[in-house]
Amino acid sequence: MLNGLARDGGLYVPETWPTLSIETLRGLRGQPYTDVAFRVMRPFVGETIDDTTLQGIIDDAYAQFDHELVAPLVQTGPGEWLMELWHGPTLAFKDVAMQVLGRLYDHVLDQRNQSVTLIGATSGDTGSAAIEAVRDREHASIFILHPHNRTSDVQRRQMTTVEAANVHNIALEGTFDDCQALVKAMFNDVAFRERVNMSGVNSINWARIMPQIVYYVWAALSLGAPNRAVTFAVPTGNFGDIYAGYAAKQMGVPINKLVIASNMNDILTRVMRSGRHELGDVHPTMSPSMDIQVSSNFERLMFDLYGRDGAAVADKMDELKATDRFMIEPDRIAVARQTFDAQRIDEEQTLAVIADVYRRSRYIVDPHTAVGVGAARQETADPESPMIVLSTAHPAKFPAAVSKAIGCEPPVPAKLAAAMNGTERFDVLPNDLGVVMDHIVARLG
Ligand SMILES: *Cc1c(COP(=O)(O)O)cnc(C)c1O
Repeated sequence: MLNGLARDGGLYVPETWPTLSIETLRGLRGQPYTDVAFRVMRPFVGETIDDTTLQGIIDDAYAQFDHELVAPLVQTGPGEWLMELWHGPTLAFKDVAMQVLGRLYDHVLDQRNQSVTLIGATSGDTGSAAIEAVRDREHASIFILHPHNRTSDVQRRQMTTVEAANVHNIALEGTFDDCQALVKAMFNDVAFRERVNMSGVNSINWARIMPQIVYYVWAALSLGAPNRAVTFAVPTGNFGDIYAGYAAKQMGVPINKLVIASNMNDILTRVMRSGRHELGDVHPTMSPSMDIQVSSNFERLMFDLYGRDGAAVADKMDELKATDRFMIEPDRIAVARQTFDAQRIDEEQTLAVIADVYRRSRYIVDPHTAVGVGAARQETADPESPMIVLSTAHPAKFPAAVSKAIGCEPPVPAKLAAAMNGTERFDVLPNDLGVVMDHIVARLG
């Protein structure tokens, strides 16, 4: 959790997958979300945190959600459900993991009598979810860089209206890539990194995957597991969310298929069809949190596809760095296809899905969720196996796309209205590494 990335550049994975027996799964049916969360996360935490503390962290994290069920299911068609993962403070699914991660950080740092400075770049939901997770925590300060005048109003205001002494927003005179390049440069500056005890907020941290496994178990149990298998369709960017579904399956949850739903940035659809993992240009879409060139968590699946041979995976990653591509051999990709399907949904289809869901049930989905629903509907329906689409953001975060699809904007929830009306606080800085580092050091005091 504290390292994020392993020293050789690889990603951490569990040595073995803990399993939930049929009896354990039966016993968890109908239990509160926080109880399921405890049972699912406990084996990964091991002896490092005692049971009472862990349960306390989980209870406190999910008390921040505005729905008792945390991840409620809504039926949108015969055999089709949405799992609403956006009941947290920033109205996107990243809160489900971030709210736990922020509290785990605080607990562990408190024990070690340390503090960290989290520094990250954001163009979308990660920045606000991270800020909400560490605001007012004793042992962490957070600096989030966003490109000045180049974010959506909603997403910027969710970050800049937070009133907390340990939260610092930097509006950089540059692009998102400039922001990311500066964060990377700060990480590579060992003297600076050690001086501020710098850490990252990126999605490859194992402690962000772990809390996401819970809602797959929860949803499957709600719709008949362990007696009946279910299928999930997952709007996918960095592959973190759907990899958590894969983890749930490895732990013994009966999951038929995991459907990778991509927008026009379809590297995963291409790799699943051809075995060729090849970088392309990033296309900006209505579902910006899925606009990626490469899905960093896919490396974790590769580890299993290559028989848990770390050296083989490292070779592929080196090849990617050198040539922007690698090949997955047909027998390996065949193994992936036993669990994963992949579908690509373009912009027109995304709008059509938002309109169709609204017409049929007066329910408004956001563009990311719409990509998930579109992908689910391209699958061959199996009446024996419920299809659960992960709804990853509240539609009010993306009013322009929704309005384009159905002719009106979604109602704005109170917590978003507060952000839209609050006072913004951010410092505009030039795209200059030295200036940004000096600013951070000065702010930390
Ligand atoms: C981050 C995000 C995703 C993609 O999740 P990954 O774990 O990166 O695959 C999808 N939808 C929304 C709204 C997001 O914020």
